[in-house]
Amino acid sequence: MKIKRINKSNGMITLFLVCALVFGCSVHTPQWAFDNPYAEVDWQTYQAYKANLHTHTTMSDGKGTPAEVIDRYARLKYAILSLTDHDTLGPERDRDHPEQHRTTWPWQTFGRDPDSLGMIAIEGNEISRRDHIGSFFNDYGNPNIDSEQEALDEIGRRNGLAILFHPGRYNKSVEWYVDLFRSYPHLIGFEIYNQGDRYSGDRTTWDAILKDLAGERLVWGFSNDDMHNPETQLGRNWNVLLLPDFSAEQVRLAMENGVFFYVYSVDGHQGEAPPEIRRIESDPRKGVIRLSAHGHERIDWIVEGEIVHQGDRVQLSKIDTANGTIRAVVYGADDKSLIGTQPIRFQRLSD
Ligand SMILES: [Zn+2]
Repeated sequence: MKIKRINKSNGMITLFLVCALVFGCSVHTPQWAFDNPYAEVDWQTYQAYKANLHTHTTMSDGKGTPAEVIDRYARLKYAILSLTDHDTLGPERDRDHPEQHRTTWPWQTFGRDPDSLGMIAIEGNEISRRDHIGSFFNDYGNPNIDSEQEALDEIGRRNGLAILFHPGRYNKSVEWYVDLFRSYPHLIGFEIYNQGDRYSGDRTTWDAILKDLAGERLVWGFSNDDMHNPETQLGRNWNVLLLPDFSAEQVRLAMENGVFFYVYSVDGHQGEAPPEIRRIESDPRKGVIRLSAHGHERIDWIVEGEIVHQGDRVQLSKIDTANGTIRAVVYGADDKSLIGTQPIRFQRLSD
């Protein structure tokens, strides 16, 4: 009897191990795979920094001088700023000499030193002859282009990064965007909030792009002031970059890898502060994503443009999709101001 019982027990263990190896059904085997842009963040040591990446001055059609604009953002505790004047406009633009004055750069030209302000300045431009494209970490600014692809090719040749600005202004299909994101790895994302919220349909387009690209790559959502008037358009939109140390190299890595949140503060810095995200972690073993926030009223989880869950913890087995991307939006007490995460890709490995 005793031997028989042991045999039965061994048989059970064997069956269990085979099951675990073949089907991954052990409790210790991950049930889900994640591609989580925040996976590497050390929440104890990383610091959060405010960034606006779309800003105009009198060097194109903005109303504030570069020095005034820099000072205003510095006073509001922005740590990262890119002056992205249109390459097609402005007193310094000389079409016969496109190699000159490509960007509003360096800040020292305008009497400001990023180091002494405790800021990181990013060289940037809004390539504006076709659909407007934010160009960063390079000095490109030639207005004589015939296509968006030509601009993206040149930004790539200069080892820059690119973001599509206010896509809702143009009449492009989701397929057109998907093709661009497939072709250009240095095209890192898409403005989903611009100058307050001028083009709310851009979030719908973003979700459609994420769905079509699932399994290939992720595309990051940005919120930018697109500030032309310092009195009325400054300080409503920003991005919160999570950095292990405060350097231009780390800013670039966070932008490339999606290690940031986007913020829309309806009343800017006059109103109540928008909520904060303190932590977001995915657990592949349990198929759970947990988000810790502060100053919030509600957390929505969005898959393919639909709210699939509300609360600080989402159990993926309880939603209807086995493979896709999920993102969270955290709303403040006014139910309007918000902070959002980048998409996290998930895939169920077993039933
Ligand atoms: Zn602009």
